[in-house]
Amino acid sequence: MIIYFIGTGGSEGIPVHLCDCNTCNEARKFRFAQRRPSTLAVIGENGEVILFDVGTDIREFLNVPLDAIFLTHWHHDHIYGLYKLRWIARETNLYAPEGHADALILQDPKNLRPKIIKAGEKIRIGDIKVTSVKLNHQIETLGYIIEEDGKRVAILYDTKGLPPETREYLEDISPLRVAIVDATYPPGFVDPYHNNVNEAVEMSIDIAERIVLSHISHKNLPFLKLVNYTRKMWGGKVLVAYDGMVFYV
Ligand SMILES: [Zn+2]
Ligand SMILES: [Zn+2]
Ligand SMILES: [Zn+2]
Repeated sequence: MIIYFIGTGGSEGIPVHLCDCNTCNEARKFRFAQRRPSTLAVIGENGEVILFDVGTDIREFLNVPLDAIFLTHWHHDHIYGLYKLRWIARETNLYAPEGHADALILQDPKNLRPKIIKAGEKIRIGDIKVTSVKLNHQIETLGYIIEEDGKRVAILYDTKGLPPETREYLEDISPLRVAIVDATYPPGFVDPYHNNVNEAVEMSIDIAERIVLSHISHKNLPFLKLVNYTRKMWGGKVLVAYDGMVFYV
């Protein structure tokens, strides 16, 4: 399968309008350091396309039928793009947790077909199996394990660490090929609902062969510094996601 990172930012995106911080200034110099809110596509070996979160308008990145859309949670940075995407010209299943569900999307979904799911559910899309797991966030939030041909990838955002039952489940099915992990904040920063970079790696380093840091805020280190930091600390095992990145699993 192919993982296509369409948006790898936190809710504000990078650069933030008029923000003069080092991260935002660097992103005005290097296009690759700019980030849209969370949006990720998985493309299966038989051509299935599954979207995980819709933090942005997807049309210029992905103009194909979607076999399914999954939401991790209903925070605005993960659903922005849905307000437009619901006019999609074919019926498309939208799987999402219940907590804080957006009334507009549920009551007037146009061509989306919302289906509420809970942690622990398994859904098959073609040859891809998607399993939802519970995460630790401000509102009900699901992570997803995507499995194809015995290879597993985990999407683990937004979260601060992992609930014990999720940790146990991931240990049981480890090693994951890739864990895509919430790394909103810089090393040392403490937040109740999101990881910093070190917490992101600690949470996943013993269960995954590779870790890809995502959901990155402008409060995090500037792109080049963040890449240098992760290389020094963890070598090639930890990668920093960027918008447009494609990862082959
Ligand atoms: Zn978020
Ligand atoms: Zn900034
Ligand atoms: Zn959130």
